[in-house]
Amino acid sequence: MNSNIEIINYARFRNLIVTTAPLERLHDGMRWAEGPVYFADTNTLIFSDLPNDRLMAWTGSGVSVLRSPSNVANGNARDREGRLITCESGARRLTRTEHDGRVFVLVDSFEGRKLNSPNDVVVSADGIIWFTDPDYGLLSNYTGRRGERELNANNVFRFDALNSTLTVATNTMVKPNGLAFSPDESVLYVADSGRTHDPEGPHHIIAFDVKSGILSNRRPFATVDPGIPDGICVDEDGRVWSSAADGVHCFDIDGELIGKIRLPETVSNVAFGGPNRDRLFITTATSLYAIYLSVGAP
Ligand code: MG
Repeated sequence: MNSNIEIINYARFRNLIVTTAPLERLHDGMRWAEGPVYFADTNTLIFSDLPNDRLMAWTGSGVSVLRSPSNVANGNARDREGRLITCESGARRLTRTEHDGRVFVLVDSFEGRKLNSPNDVVVSADGIIWFTDPDYGLLSNYTGRRGERELNANNVFRFDALNSTLTVATNTMVKPNGLAFSPDESVLYVADSGRTHDPEGPHHIIAFDVKSGILSNRRPFATVDPGIPDGICVDEDGRVWSSAADGVHCFDIDGELIGKIRLPETVSNVAFGGPNRDRLFITTATSLYAIYLSVGAP
């Protein structure tokens, strides 16, 4: 068995692993990699290197700089038309990169006040853009731009690009971070990484029911330890794969930790990709890794 794999619940985790598939390091030399998103049409993984202020692109043949400066780009997603959606942590805004390469600002304020520092983003099947807005980017120039907060909460927002409507999905998180939908989009998972700035703070993933764009039935789904949940993703069966200090943690749909992929450095985010959608791309502090699994994206 691959020595990077730690099986906790054999019956539930063993069949997700390809015994002969190694953990591959695809790129290194970054300062804090984040925000992986896969574009199947070009077999490209786009991700961010925050302190180096650049967006990166991996293709099968290597990694290149896609955009620099990037306004300290953080989380990325792909919208229903195949366009890149980016959280610009430094510019405190959400952007969309059009097919011709132009960068269009989707939203940078709420009720007349600047956003904090958009962190991570996901697009639902109806085209609505959901993103988290913790204050991390305001706290240092390393992963943002130091500045004063104007909003009194660290919200999860819901943005309708068709009519430019921004609404608060929830203001109940301490530091909302990664987010992901269940395969049928009836549940939204949101990571809370409040422990980064408070030893007693949350390091858990919260689940919400989603109906007509409204969140309800807030409940704890899983606690991540060691470390915090930063980025998360969901597989085709509804398991949640989360970043952690010692690697990637896999939680079954009932929240049970069933296995880990051990990594030598702190994991920041995860995303499925590859032609068969079964390659898990993993961003860590300084590197980009990937591993083939026998389960993939929804
Ligand atoms: Mg994040």
